[in-house]
Amino acid sequence: MDYERLLEEAGALLEGHFLLTSGLHSDKYIEKMRILEDPELMEPFFNKMIDLSPDTDWFVGPTLGGAIIAFELARMTGRKSAFAERIEAGRELKREFAIKNSDNIVIVDDILTTGSSIKETIKAIDKGKIIAAVVMIDRSTTNIEIDIPVKSVLKYPIENYREERCRLCKESVPLTKRGGKK
Ligand SMILES: [Zn+2]
Repeated sequence: MDYERLLEEAGALLEGHFLLTSGLHSDKYIEKMRILEDPELMEPFFNKMIDLSPDTDWFVGPTLGGAIIAFELARMTGRKSAFAERIEAGRELKREFAIKNSDNIVIVDDILTTGSSIKETIKAIDKGKIIAAVVMIDRSTTNIEIDIPVKSVLKYPIENYREERCRLCKESVPLTKRGGKK
């Protein structure tokens, strides 16, 4: 399965000159809503995520994308799903999810960038055993230190540049603003 091509055809992979929420620039951008709005597009990713995931009792994802993915993977495998919501500092499992200490948990998310959403979700879980994380797209370019195995369906590294080191700025390519808090 050519996952990159599927995303390209859906218009989810953009090329250009982007100003990211972090203030950094990039020459590629993943338009996440082109993915999350399209269950048919996501289906092959869901299937592969289940292949990559060890057997588990729970799929837990950070809002918003991770929560949608967790629910669907739980539906497909007959397991349970929960989600970690953003709070002032980090994330929290605000609802009374019935996770038991003996339960295994796999964390899922849409796009892995810095690993902060996964790390915050790990911190938010105070019951059960977190055995792995599985993401749709790994766009990181550096090694992210997370204490559990992290697997991805598609590796799509995107380099970020500071403005003064940005090749596209030097070439005066128009800048497009992208991104926002999920
Ligand atoms: Zn630039």
